[in-house]
Amino acid sequence: MAGILFVISGPSGVGKSTVRKEVMKRCSGLRYSISCTTRPPREGEINGVDYLFVDLSTFEAMKRQGEFLEWARVHGNYYGTPRKPIEEWLKKGEDVILEIDVQGAKQVKKNFKGGVFIFIAPPSLKALEERLKKRNTDREDEILLRMTNARIEMQCISDYDYLVVNDQLEEAVNKLLSIIIAERCRIRKP
Ligand code: 5GP
Repeated sequence: MAGILFVISGPSGVGKSTVRKEVMKRCSGLRYSISCTTRPPREGEINGVDYLFVDLSTFEAMKRQGEFLEWARVHGNYYGTPRKPIEEWLKKGEDVILEIDVQGAKQVKKNFKGGVFIFIAPPSLKALEERLKKRNTDREDEILLRMTNARIEMQCISDYDYLVVNDQLEEAVNKLLSIIIAERCRIRKP
């Protein structure tokens, strides 16, 4: 049986990666798709672990050669999901998690049958802004851009199958874990 593709979206700073990493510690058989990005690495980020950091011309070449399952321009940088590893994992029956923005999720939904779409939301936009400021990884103008985009992204919630509000980390982790377990138990019609 083919694996399940889980697609997670949510505004920048909502804690998607933290929730996802915690879920992966507690749940076996999940592969995480490492995205390509033209964004420069933040302090502590490792090439090949957090992202595959590439320059714009490499990204463009990969795009032309059809190497991305989806790609999008987010907050002024390009991000793309490499297609090949995902197709191989799913074929082998391994489940895959993508952490991508709402534009990318829309493309996956259009081109890929049977994905499970999960939106992680902050308890409020005010709480999100405070988190972005506390994270201290983005400049003031970047935070403003991320907040503007967050408002747009929140309007796409109805395109998703599940909503997880990340107020308390432990609770959000349990909810995501429950969704994954439930989807693994779902009887899929051919
Ligand atoms: P950040 O720069 O904060 O790591 O990520 C910014 C946004 O880009 C986040 O919403 C993240 O989910 C999204 N993102 C990361 N990788 C991809 C990808 O491969 N494709 C798309 N469409 N969005 C991505």
